[in-house]
Amino acid sequence: MPRSLALAVDFGGTKVEAALVDDRGRLVPGTRHRSATGATASSDELEAAVSHVVSAARASLPDHAWLVGVGVGAAGPVDVATGHVSPLNVPVWRGHPLRDLIAGLVPEAPVTLRIDGLCIALAEYWVGAGRDAANLLGMIVSTGVGGGLVLGGRAAPSPTGNGGHIGHVEVGGFDDVCACGGRGCLEAVASGPRTVAWARMQGFTGETGEDLAIAHAAGDPIAVAAVERAGTAIGHAVASAANLLDLDVVAIGGGFSRVSPALFEHARAALVERSAFPFVARVQVVPSGLSDEGPLVGAAALVHRPEFIA
Ligand SMILES: [Zn+2]
Repeated sequence: MPRSLALAVDFGGTKVEAALVDDRGRLVPGTRHRSATGATASSDELEAAVSHVVSAARASLPDHAWLVGVGVGAAGPVDVATGHVSPLNVPVWRGHPLRDLIAGLVPEAPVTLRIDGLCIALAEYWVGAGRDAANLLGMIVSTGVGGGLVLGGRAAPSPTGNGGHIGHVEVGGFDDVCACGGRGCLEAVASGPRTVAWARMQGFTGETGEDLAIAHAAGDPIAVAAVERAGTAIGHAVASAANLLDLDVVAIGGGFSRVSPALFEHARAALVERSAFPFVARVQVVPSGLSDEGPLVGAAALVHRPEFIA
């Protein structure tokens, strides 16, 4: 059966992945490849990691299939005009030409690059929890907090490509210092590592989000308070976004979003507490409808559904 496939790439601060994805948002089995990146890797090592996964995915193209394009989701900030990336957690890359690097590896297909948060939002809108939700905020709550916006059924206009990054929206009542230079950013309050750090200041002895999840499930009062604090901050940030944008759905994924269902309960409660407006309270705050394949599916949407970003 002839098939048109996208080569999807997800570049992040801990790993880079590539896979072939069909026009219904499904990964082609056996084509997914991963390499480590990391804050201490050299630029040459990062380029080698990208080259390895992209070349391996390209080489796994099945018979009777062809590549229609390459979609790249990258940790930001990005510059979509130049295809350069400056990932906050990858300090050796500032203005690095990631799009051109990948274009050189796959000369037969056009390359489209966007920020990873937008790719998540597009994936949720295409095949995830936000299908048919014309106004959608996709969020990742993990090592950091990222996001992207679909408004009116397409990516929100964004001249540099960095729009929708709710992680650096300020949450009232908090002044936690953020790596972006701000204070009280959602990411500085509610990311997995920052939530664990807050819990440790209260006497928690675990070290990871997984430790916090286990402690929360056991009813540990510090873990319960830490998840409530993160969920409340998420709810307040979502309420601000809903006031600004009249959202239908907020779909939240990422490793730390699964710390406990209570994270969502606190976010929904804070949303209602924060605003008496029915148009804000109506927002559906839901878990991502995608597995950990979401970032790759969203990168593939850049290729298979170009009308989303037109
Ligand atoms: Zn910030």
